[in-house]
Amino acid sequence: INNPLGAITNLIFLLAPLQSSPEAQAYIATLDVQVRGLARISTQMLKLHRDSNRPTKFELSEVLREISDFYRPQAERQGVVVHERIETEGSIEGFRGEIAQVVTNLLLNALEATSVGGNVSFHLYPAPPWLCEVHGTCGYCLSIADTGKGIDPENYARLFEPFFTTKGDKGTGLGLWLCKGIISRVEGSIRVWSSRRPNRSGTCFSVFLPAEEAIFTPLRRRYEAEEPGCQTKE
Ligand code: ADP
Ligand code: MG
Repeated sequence: INNPLGAITNLIFLLAPLQSSPEAQAYIATLDVQVRGLARISTQMLKLHRDSNRPTKFELSEVLREISDFYRPQAERQGVVVHERIETEGSIEGFRGEIAQVVTNLLLNALEATSVGGNVSFHLYPAPPWLCEVHGTCGYCLSIADTGKGIDPENYARLFEPFFTTKGDKGTGLGLWLCKGIISRVEGSIRVWSSRRPNRSGTCFSVFLPAEEAIFTPLRRRYEAEEPGCQTKE
C-alpha cells in the first residue's frame, strides 16, 4: 500500500504546478489531504501489525469475555441474546490480536445471520482427546453457535474462499478466509455444522487451538507412556 501511495504523492506534487485553474488547484489540495490521510492509516496499521508480531501468553477466556461484552449491547438492540459457557481459562501462546479477530469475525457472522429472538452462544472447553490426537497436541475448542438462518449446503465448499459472500454489497467475503489463515498458522483447525430446517435452523463454527506447550507436554507424555500409539485412551 505504501509504495503506490508514495507514487501518488509524487504525482500530485508534479501535477500541481501544471494546473492553472483555481478549481483544479482546489481539487489537487483536497486530493493531497486525502492521500496523507491514507498514508497515516497505513502507518497505524503497520504499527498495529508490529505490535501483534510478538507472541504472548494469554487466556482465551479473557479474549472471549472482552469481545462478547463489547458486542452484547449491539446484539441486544438487535433482539439477540449472547451466552457464554466457559469451562477453562484456555491458556495459549500466540498473537492475541489475531485470535481476537477470529472471535470477532465469527461473532459478527453469527449476529448477521440471526434475527429477533435468536441466540448466539460461545462455548470454550478443553478439546476432547480424539481431537488432540488428530492435531498431535492438546488444546482448546471454541465454538460459536447461532440460531440464525443456517448455511445453504451448496455454499459449504466455498465458505472459506476469499471474496465469497452471500451478503451482496454488505459483505466482503474476507472474514472466514482470514479466520482460516490465522488458525492454520497456529496449526489449529476450524469446522462448521449448519442446518436450515424450519424452526430449528442454526450454525456452529468450532475452532481448535493448540494449548500453551508447557502445560500439555507432560500430559501428552503421560498418554504416550500409558498407551504407545493410542493417545486417546484415558
Ligand atoms: P461476509 O461476512 O463478508 O459475507 P465471511 O467470510 O465472513 O464474509 O462469510 C462468508 C459467507 O459465509 C457469508 O456471506 C455467509 O453466507 C456465510 N456464513 C458465515 N457465517 C455464517 C453464519 N453464522 N450463519 C449463516 N451463514 C454464515
Ligand atoms: Mg463476515
